[in-house]
Amino acid sequence: MSAHKEFILTLEGVTKSFDGFKAINDLNFYMDTGELRVVIGPNGAGKSTMLDLITGRTAPDVGKVEFGKDTDLTELNEYEINRLGIGRKFQTPSVYVDSTVFENIWLSLEGSRSLWSCLFSRISSEQRDRIHEVMKTIGLVDKADTKAGLLSHGQKQWLEIGMLLAQNPKLLLVDEPAAGMTDEETHKTGELLMSLEGKHSIVVIEHDMTFVRQIARKVTVLHQGHVLCEGTVDQVQNDERVIEVYLGRKKKA
Ligand code: ADP
Ligand code: MG
Repeated sequence: MSAHKEFILTLEGVTKSFDGFKAINDLNFYMDTGELRVVIGPNGAGKSTMLDLITGRTAPDVGKVEFGKDTDLTELNEYEINRLGIGRKFQTPSVYVDSTVFENIWLSLEGSRSLWSCLFSRISSEQRDRIHEVMKTIGLVDKADTKAGLLSHGQKQWLEIGMLLAQNPKLLLVDEPAAGMTDEETHKTGELLMSLEGKHSIVVIEHDMTFVRQIARKVTVLHQGHVLCEGTVDQVQNDERVIEVYLGRKKKA
């Protein structure tokens, strides 16, 4: 263990039951700083619940959830966890539809601000530069003055990722970003997430295997709230246990 880089995220022996049903069951999950990790698994495997446990939306029955070397996330509430630099993107985009792309990112900049304070405070050149940098990253510079409500579904998803980036999170949790996207949008989303690798640590939950193949470094397969296997896309796709779980049968020899 000594030569190992610091883990940004450690889940160890984590169990979470809902009415006696173990949505998360003795889960062990470790992630390196700067890593882009993909988590896959059938519906109900516990993927979203795992994110709920990291973000403090729900508390584990038992087990360790740690951020960095020694921050115990189970002691903190959602707000405190967010303030540590853990940002989460839910499946459905939530942007301010009547505000422009530029304004949406402005509202999300580090340091809490309200629509009210935006209206009555002048924007600094640093803020303007930062907003442009974020718009460039998410590929929406030419939409700066477009109201978010007029964006396509994919563009709204990128804007929401941009709003998270504006807070400069250390760890970014993204739940099924490609759901409902066209193939082209899905591909662009993959490129966006890959461009963030190294600058942020990122957990991406996704079903679309073309997308997983495009972005995947290390893939974790979750099944019944437990890690079934981990490895490259090829390794997990050829793993007997994964094939059984997804297809309900053993691979023919
Ligand atoms: P996934 O995201 O992998 O599809 P989830 O984490 O959403 O799976 O759900 C895992 C299991 O836990 C499911 O059976 C789901 O019904 C159950 N579950 C998740 N959250 C709750 C909750 N708040 N109350 C009751 N059951 C829940
Ligand atoms: Mg889910």
